[in-house]
Amino acid sequence: AAEEGFDVEDIEGAIEAAGHGPLPVLAVVGRPNVGKSTLVNRIIGRREAVVEDKPGVTRDRVTYEAEWAGRRFKLVDTGGWEQDVLGIDASVAAQAEYAIDAADAVVFVVDAKVGATDTDEAVVRLLRKAGKPVVLCANKVDGLSGEADASYLWALGLGEPHPVSALHGRGTGDMLDAVLEALPEAPAQTFGTAIGGPRRIALIGRPNVGKSSLLNKVANEDRVVVNEVAGTTRDPVDELIELGGVTWKFVDTAGIRKRVHLQQGADYYASLRTAAAVEKAEVAVILIDASETISIQDQRIVTMAVEAGRAIVLAFNKWDTLDEERRYYLEREIETELAQVSWAPRVNVSARTGRHMEKLVPAIETAIEGWEARVPTGRLNAFLGELVAAHPHPVRGGKQPRILFGTQAGTKPPRFVLFSSGFIEHGYRRFVERRLREEFSFEGTPIHISVRVRE
Ligand code: GDP
Ligand code: GDP
Repeated sequence: AAEEGFDVEDIEGAIEAAGHGPLPVLAVVGRPNVGKSTLVNRIIGRREAVVEDKPGVTRDRVTYEAEWAGRRFKLVDTGGWEQDVLGIDASVAAQAEYAIDAADAVVFVVDAKVGATDTDEAVVRLLRKAGKPVVLCANKVDGLSGEADASYLWALGLGEPHPVSALHGRGTGDMLDAVLEALPEAPAQTFGTAIGGPRRIALIGRPNVGKSSLLNKVANEDRVVVNEVAGTTRDPVDELIELGGVTWKFVDTAGIRKRVHLQQGADYYASLRTAAAVEKAEVAVILIDASETISIQDQRIVTMAVEAGRAIVLAFNKWDTLDEERRYYLEREIETELAQVSWAPRVNVSARTGRHMEKLVPAIETAIEGWEARVPTGRLNAFLGELVAAHPHPVRGGKQPRILFGTQAGTKPPRFVLFSSGFIEHGYRRFVERRLREEFSFEGTPIHISVRVRE
């Protein structure tokens, strides 16, 4: 019903806009120097994706939100990858594998001026195996004369090559139209197939925090060798592990177990793997080495999981090594450095001794519960009414903006739309979020709040 000066279309539009679920993921893959980063920049319309691609430069931003023809999607940029000690083929294959695995569709970029190389052929094999929709981008076709080069790429067997100049923008619109056709509305693999299947956990954290030790510990203690769980297809990089009587799917474990020794690009590789795992998971268990100062890298990983909107558990590992002094400083660091996830359940574990392993599952369950929780509109508005009456927004310019009513537009993570009579300040939004969390126990989940102001 029309309420307090909003008309029905306004309200419905706002709810729909706020309620969008997780976005489908598009990966851009290809050899170094074919123009992936240039293309990503072209698509997101910003310059920032391309940093100086010098060897050793840390690239930890690998996913971007993009929009074309009114549709939004996530873009995974694999352009930060440099050739490393494994040789060009292996490195391209490894990065492409992660990106393809997490993607709903792939743009495969080939340098049309060079033509298809052996490395390109290797990526084609990976693409075939993965069976994801592929759009073939024949890049560096800067003018009409280059189109003949593009047509040679039919030979790759991936369908029509789309001649593009990422540098000048030529042909990118047509290619993006093809991308939208290939891309499902919602990320099928992440949420569509999950119903009834095992919950998906991404075990993430910077190198050496103890991910593989923890995985071995939980897998050995309560090993299930389940190859076929009803309704699931087992991905070789994922592992089914029974914990607390429930089977969980730990995603991307191959990357945790496999010790790939990398020099250049190792940080980037780790970021890509983390992003891919987070995309595939419902809950992120973020492992932090409690014996060391919480670092920027830890925070970046936390931010990645928060921005992806996943349920989050913080696990502080190597607890067996902590003395009293370190415990004291750790608490201070958590307060200041991890304030953005002060709502996340926390467990203090030791992958070495097995300390508190049994607390992991309840923490994960709590986080997932919060992530999926839905507050009935009636209860939400009773709560908002009381809140606004007891703690009104500060008066600004002689007026008092007021939250009039609200609704939960979506879950996984919870998304709210609040309708107000005027601009709601950041501090007040934070206050409302804090109280919402207290009232409805949104533990372990990011929550989104958007505010719609009456015209
Ligand atoms: P990446 O390693 O695949 O991410 O490749 P980059 O985006 O860094 O591009 C590699 C080089 O190719 C850069 O010098 C770009 O300016 C150039 N490049 C990218 N796209 C085009 C294009 O459409 N036409 C031409 N002529 N050069 C391009
Ligand atoms: P990953 O890189 O995150 O997979 O970390 P690893 O599992 O390889 O662990 C890195 C190092 O930390 C190894 O030497 C482990 O033995 C050690 N380690 C892992 N967990 C613990 C723990 O709980 N306590 C102690 N003391 N050492 C640990």
